[in-house]
Amino acid sequence: MKISTWILTALFRCLRVKLLNFKPKNYFTEEELACKCGCGGGWFNHEALLKFNIARYIANIPFDPSSAIRCFAYNKTVKGVKDSTHMYGVAMDLTVTNSTDRFKIIFALLLAGFTRIGIAKTFVHADNSDKKSSGVIWLY
Ligand SMILES: [Zn+2]
Ligand SMILES: [Zn+2]
Repeated sequence: MKISTWILTALFRCLRVKLLNFKPKNYFTEEELACKCGCGGGWFNHEALLKFNIARYIANIPFDPSSAIRCFAYNKTVKGVKDSTHMYGVAMDLTVTNSTDRFKIIFALLLAGFTRIGIAKTFVHADNSDKKSSGVIWLY
């Protein structure tokens, strides 16, 4: 699919959600969202999950969360920032392996309404925190 076609499809899907109140299905398994230390602790915020599902629907490509929920201990293990939004179940790191997928994921996250995005070489972070600054894109 040409990128211009993909963009039109993404915009159409975005309008379907925003204007027609279309609710996408849940694309994420509990296993994908669980803390990777295996503690089974914590839960993913409902509102944030809906937003990620909207982004996934708009992007229309697989989303592979390498990190979602983190318990306090595991966040320390992976050297996450002290007040990481991952500990509050509102953040995901989505694996990216090429620049086209990175473009699509970021474009879709923005259309879905995410205002906090972090870009790394191998993943894109997004979170729905209302305690931290919004309208920001940072690099790792
Ligand atoms: Zn854990
Ligand atoms: Zn992250």
